[in-house]
Amino acid sequence: MENTYVVWDESNEAAIIDCGCLYENEETQLKQFIDDNKLIVKYLINTHLHLDHQFGNYFAAQTFGVLPKAHKDDEKLIANLKSQAMMFGIPSEVEAQNLGGYLDEKDEIRLGNTILKVIHIPGHSAGHLCFYNEKEKVLFSGDVLFADSIGRTDLPGGNFEQLITNIKQKLLTLPDETVVFCGHGESTTIGKEKQHNPFL
Ligand SMILES: [Zn+2]
Ligand SMILES: [Zn+2]
Repeated sequence: MENTYVVWDESNEAAIIDCGCLYENEETQLKQFIDDNKLIVKYLINTHLHLDHQFGNYFAAQTFGVLPKAHKDDEKLIANLKSQAMMFGIPSEVEAQNLGGYLDEKDEIRLGNTILKVIHIPGHSAGHLCFYNEKEKVLFSGDVLFADSIGRTDLPGGNFEQLITNIKQKLLTLPDETVVFCGHGESTTIGKEKQHNPFL
């Protein structure tokens, strides 16, 4: 139930955000989508490295020849992937994929003529990032901001106060019409969450 996103522009350069493919049909679907749209996968990036967000990184690295990037404060979660998957009863062989580099606040990911700005929002995990495209007013919020909800803060690296403060300072200050694509569930907008989100 984790959302994987593919972002690209007229250059056909693409970024895969939170490659969560776990089963073969999910891998096939992603590969087919990339092929059908003739995309060149330039980046494999993670909002954070909770297991459901990194399941597909090994597959994507093998298939598209690009190593994942994430915040260094979440890197330790990669070593836990197999044991976590077993704990959750995931009935599949899961391979962990090491990072090929780090991302942090103020970094910019460039695809053709498109820029994704990196915003660090700790509190759900220590190294949680959001990706923002200013021109199109689109935010990929991972697990920090959902429609009418926020990310859980009871996992290692979680901190409720820190999460709320960061969301208010760095996300709710974006334009109201910004469309928010979440790590789980439906998309929303900054304006809607400002008005309706019971946590904010
Ligand atoms: Zn998470
Ligand atoms: Zn998640």
